[in-house]
Amino acid sequence: MILWENKAELAKEIERIYSSPHSDFYKKKFSYTSPSSRIKLTDLPFLSRTELVATAPDDRLYVPKEDVAFVGFTSGTTSNKPLVSYFSSVDRYFFEPSLGMPITRPLITYPPLNKNFSASFIQQCRQAHKKVTPVLADYQNLPNSAVIARETNIDAIYATPTIAGNLGEHIGKYYDPGKIKLLALSSETLTRTKRGQLQQMYPNAAIANLYASSEIGQFILYPCTHMMERNEFSFHFLHEALIALELIDGELVVTYALNKAFPLIRYQTGDFFELASDSCNCGLPGPTLRWSGREQVDKIRIHGFEIRREDMDALFASMSGIAGDDYQIHARIDADNPKKIRIDVELRGADTITHHDSVATMVKNELLSRWILAPGVSIADAIERGIISDVRISFVHAFSLVTGKTRRLVNHCL
Ligand SMILES: [Zn+2]
Repeated sequence: MILWENKAELAKEIERIYSSPHSDFYKKKFSYTSPSSRIKLTDLPFLSRTELVATAPDDRLYVPKEDVAFVGFTSGTTSNKPLVSYFSSVDRYFFEPSLGMPITRPLITYPPLNKNFSASFIQQCRQAHKKVTPVLADYQNLPNSAVIARETNIDAIYATPTIAGNLGEHIGKYYDPGKIKLLALSSETLTRTKRGQLQQMYPNAAIANLYASSEIGQFILYPCTHMMERNEFSFHFLHEALIALELIDGELVVTYALNKAFPLIRYQTGDFFELASDSCNCGLPGPTLRWSGREQVDKIRIHGFEIRREDMDALFASMSGIAGDDYQIHARIDADNPKKIRIDVELRGADTITHHDSVATMVKNELLSRWILAPGVSIADAIERGIISDVRISFVHAFSLVTGKTRRLVNHCL
């Protein structure tokens, strides 16, 4: 389904990459002999992340080497190598960092904007219709960031949901959470539970969920003030910045060419959305989107039951007094009994806990009775029925799977 398409810009970009002396990456991929203004978006092949990782960034560079302004990358998982993206300067990004809110100084404790994308984000803040001053702070030293927040009188925060949550206590100690009017959050799924916790922490903040990726290099999905007021979990897309946007079997497919160093043509983001509405009362054009449960990331399905991140967030939040709520769940085939699934729960940040064994037993008992796998089936029932062999609790300093986005569910049974 095509959500947005700028046919004139698409034709121009196809012509540019065909006549480029710098790379033949797309020319080989498209296997057309000459560009044609009649080329249709849907005739072009998709571009996958795997192809990008497999092609050296210099072999898919569409500007002279000296025009590469900076480099972005994903952190990569333990088994995959990082995906490196080159970026050229962009005249205009079209993003409004204020999101229409009456703010002037956002505190930035959001790793990509503190690192690779800091210069381009500063540009976006300065060229916006409503200019703001980004206060780039230190996401690795949150107490210090809270002091910087006080000294500079910030009125908004850009962060991941996890960082915003951890920062809250320090903002409470050194500054005033009531002064925060906007929380702009990205990189992790913002569940209803987490959103509720953050709203309590920052009572006057409008909460915005934004979407970007380090291959695109900027935010392309964002909520309007109307959505924020209503606590709607939906997004507009930044059509000015996009050549095309599609939903293919639920996957967001992006055609973006503001970055002339490496334009993305029908790039499969691996992120899943669904249509929320055909239009929005705010008057911005186009349909609106919302997250759909991303297969294997926000929900995993094993042996006919489903584990949803949203449910687990709520469950761990409700027992956070026992051992915190920073968890990662691994579902794996039990080596001793291959017909059964074993669930390993890792809990992080429990350094202050002294009686690990008794706390683990408490957490396990809570999970056995309250974790519902299917209507009327608790984990304890599933163990009794021989579907699950055991639930094991361990306290860790770092999760066994570390990715760019905090991963809560890991399915090893695939
Ligand atoms: Zn709207």
